Amino acid sequence: MDFTFTPEEEAFRKEVAAFLEKEVPQEYREKRLTFFDMSAQHDWIQVHRAMAEKLGAKGWLSRHWPREYGGQDASPFYRLILREELSRYHSPGYDSIGAGIVAPALLLKGSEEQKKQHLPGIASGKVIWCETLSEPGHGSDLASIEVFAREDADCFTINGQKIWTTNGHFADWNALVVRTDREVTPKYRGLTFFLVDMKTPGITVNPVINIAGHHEFNEVFFDDVRVPKENIVGGLNKGFYVVMSLLDYERTSDTAYAVAGTYLEDLAEYARDNNLLNPIMVNRLAQLRADCEVARLLHYRVTWMQSRGTVPNYESAMSKMYGFELLQRVSEFGMELLGQYSQLTGESARVPMYGRIPSCYLRSFGHSLEQGTSEIDRDVIAQRGLGLPRLR
Ligand SMILES: Cc1cc2nc3c(=O)[nH]c(=O)nc-3n(C[C@H](O)[C@H](O)[C@H](O)COP(=O)(O)OP(=O)(O)OC[C@H]3O[C@@H](n4cnc5c(N)ncnc54)[C@H](O)[C@@H]3O)c2cc1C
Repeated sequence: MDFTFTPEEEAFRKEVAAFLEKEVPQEYREKRLTFFDMSAQHDWIQVHRAMAEKLGAKGWLSRHWPREYGGQDASPFYRLILREELSRYHSPGYDSIGAGIVAPALLLKGSEEQKKQHLPGIASGKVIWCETLSEPGHGSDLASIEVFAREDADCFTINGQKIWTTNGHFADWNALVVRTDREVTPKYRGLTFFLVDMKTPGITVNPVINIAGHHEFNEVFFDDVRVPKENIVGGLNKGFYVVMSLLDYERTSDTAYAVAGTYLEDLAEYARDNNLLNPIMVNRLAQLRADCEVARLLHYRVTWMQSRGTVPNYESAMSKMYGFELLQRVSEFGMELLGQYSQLTGESARVPMYGRIPSCYLRSFGHSLEQGTSEIDRDVIAQRGLGLPRLR
């Protein structure tokens, strides 16, 4: 067992750190924003896009892809190192939907034409993606998706509503899953995966403001939206298989453990500098630090499996569930540590840590829902990891 990074990987980490030291806007570093509360910044979309293009120009968003598609055949640990450093430097710029989910799904299931058309845009950081799976009535139960695409000569015409579409208000392209067969049983055999240009006539995006008061996700309406047949990924009525492999990547697309670790360090520093430490708080900090280490190693295991060409399944569910629930625990600890001061927001003169504490705490409720819920993750772990029967 070797837990060390190679000298080349260590050199890459230094190179990324030196770059971010220069490039990340001072305000983002000063406020120590996390990946999950950056959307509160008024200039977030512009900064996110600008940073994405800079990372793309360096070739860092695609370094772990095959050479024939613009990568360098590097190990996925390069992606992990990049994401750890982005988190440490409080930087936006990583499109976790485009680079984290759509690109691996296309590499696995896309046609040659689709790879050639879409991978360069993701690698360059110039094309930002959203993903529309969830509907008002169907989130965990994706097999029951109702938004319908009707076959129409060389196109499919799509009608219906999706919801919780992260980044839908500025994404260029959309990974969409809809029903194309209403009669078939089991129902999952009637779904198809489409790549959709967000500028296509008939798409309306309305904001949904999250519990922390930030605009992060949206509801998306499709009114007679015509999508060419060549935009189907994985074949007609085979969308569920694309989604299943995509979810294995989605569950590991965000390094929640890195965000939790950086946030915990910020809280420890604040507690030390402001005389908030007592034996109970120190004990809690130590426990959470150990939990961060567990979450980190779970994520490393998944990345190691990917580096060997295996697609992690219950291992991804374990890493996602543990990492995101840890982030919830760290956010809750922030509220406890600062006591009543933790509830002050950005407008107050006495607000600690730029008002991040309530913002991260409120946003953290979504962590056990986004990218599949913790309950579904536990089902995957029970069935695939422990071999237990399906009870629901
Ligand atoms: C911050 C955030 C960002 C998101 N971004 C996107 C996005 O970009 N694109 C997108 O398509 N979706 C997105 N989602 C939606 C997310 O994927 C869904 O919220 C999630 O899949 C759960 O679906 P639901 O909300 O319909 O809840 P439901 O599926 O209705 O579940 C409600 C509760 O019941 C539990 N439950 C459901 N089924 C079972 C079962 N079989 N066994 C045990 N418990 C069960 C769930 O765990 C949950 O606690 C986002 C959500 C959040 C919070």
